[in-house]
Amino acid sequence: MNKLIFVSGGVCSSLGKGVAASSLGALLEARGLNVRMVKCDPYINVDAGTMSPYQHGEVYVTDDGAETDLDLGNYARFTSGPLSKANSITTGQVYDAVIQKERQGRYLGRCVQVIPHITDEIKSRILAVAREDQDTDIVIVEIGGTVGDIESIPFLEAARQLIHEYGKTNAISVHLTLIPEVAGGELKTKPTQHSVKAMQEQGIQPDVLICRAPVMLDEAMRRKIALFCNIENDAVFSSYDVDTTIYEIPIIFFQQKLDQVVLKKLGVDARHADIDKWRSMMERFHGRTGAVRIGIVGKYMELHDAYKSVYEALFHAGLENAVEVELVKIDSSRLEDAPAAEALLDAAPGLDGILVPGGFGQRGVNGMVRAACWARERKVPYLGICLGMQIMVIDWGRNVLGWEDADSTEFNHDTKHPVVSLMEEQIDVKNYGGTMRLGKWTSMASPGSKLLAAYGERIVSERHRHRYEFANRCRAEMTASGLLLTGFTEDGGLVECVEWPEHPWGLGVQFHPEFKSKPTKAAPLFRDFIAAAKAHAKGAAK
Ligand code: GLN
Repeated sequence: MNKLIFVSGGVCSSLGKGVAASSLGALLEARGLNVRMVKCDPYINVDAGTMSPYQHGEVYVTDDGAETDLDLGNYARFTSGPLSKANSITTGQVYDAVIQKERQGRYLGRCVQVIPHITDEIKSRILAVAREDQDTDIVIVEIGGTVGDIESIPFLEAARQLIHEYGKTNAISVHLTLIPEVAGGELKTKPTQHSVKAMQEQGIQPDVLICRAPVMLDEAMRRKIALFCNIENDAVFSSYDVDTTIYEIPIIFFQQKLDQVVLKKLGVDARHADIDKWRSMMERFHGRTGAVRIGIVGKYMELHDAYKSVYEALFHAGLENAVEVELVKIDSSRLEDAPAAEALLDAAPGLDGILVPGGFGQRGVNGMVRAACWARERKVPYLGICLGMQIMVIDWGRNVLGWEDADSTEFNHDTKHPVVSLMEEQIDVKNYGGTMRLGKWTSMASPGSKLLAAYGERIVSERHRHRYEFANRCRAEMTASGLLLTGFTEDGGLVECVEWPEHPWGLGVQFHPEFKSKPTKAAPLFRDFIAAAKAHAKGAAK
């Protein structure tokens, strides 16, 4: 029987529950254990796919095409267990399943209720992950939201029941709270006491507290919290603000012996933690010299979480290239007007690369095309992801082939030059949820391409999330004018990669390499993009 750890949060949101859960997962893996991560999201959307990045940050995509909460991205960066549709449970999915069963008459005439039917559905989904693989030692279940929210009650109730059924030595509660600092620099424990009380009202006594605070809590403070919250003295931990990187958190938890306390409570014997990979990553972090400046040209620039995996992948690529990556966030709608766009990009001090990330909808697209044109003409390294690749094709149509109205039919239905168009199988799609070309697909990299150089092998397996594609009807004109098409689906039907000729490094892919990037191993295209940016920075400095 494997063990369960429920991670909940209190006081307020955005305390870094995902990072805390992931760091705990990383530490337990460092002790040789097989860990699985699950996220419970209290929203009624069936998945995150239909939500605006402004609402909920980026949509993270798994191999099997689940469109999930960005916390699955944290799990993927910190831990190594498989992630699929099963690892993301939402209220929407749970109700959807229960209502379908009810329509099929499977509740045999009973009145269908939140307890036990909704909670049973939640429990069976958590246990499905626990039982999927015999070798799974521990399942970490993160419950989204904040204790006290109406929406998360069924998830907490399912956790309470599972802790009761598994027994205290097989299932524990880890609760994350905030210790705020008030004027005068005093740290306050009261919100944490109230948060634990709210957990107790749900029938759960937290076993471990992780306290988010500006600084490391001292022994007296930890004892006080333990006393008031009915927690053992050694089970109160500090997650203090770091000015390095979130990837230091597994080390910070290790130093406080979080893994030892958790495993003791669960009665698990495991070898000593080997955290060398995190330590050497921190050495690389501190060993970086110099910086490259990367302009991110997109439309959700105010919200860091909207392009979370892209920013993380850039950071990973910086670690691998021993250089700091400075992000210059540029709202593409500021680049719509041609002369102003050039002036703005020329004036932005020393951009060493431009990255256009994925996106949907017309707003800001013309500005992205201008940014691509600028990078192509100025020979500044460029990485286009999904929409960013389509932007390269639109730029080529407009500014090399001279088709002024070249566009994607996503943005202009009536263009005479639809260089990007709806995929055949998307034409009759009416529902928005889960109907894109999603998840893992393989592409073939062409000999001599930068794509092949990055991956080192011809078959490239990456995740997708799009409806539109390079329009095959203009392949001949695009290639005759010099654009390099260097990646295709295995049947040759879809273009997966385009590259600029006579350019130091200008490449766009229809897939999302950012989702598989890790701090210990950057995604190949990000690594090579930053290497090119570094060469550009050196050239510029001469
Ligand atoms: N909107 C484009 C499409 O659907 C690009 C999608 C994306 O960037 N993820 O094809």
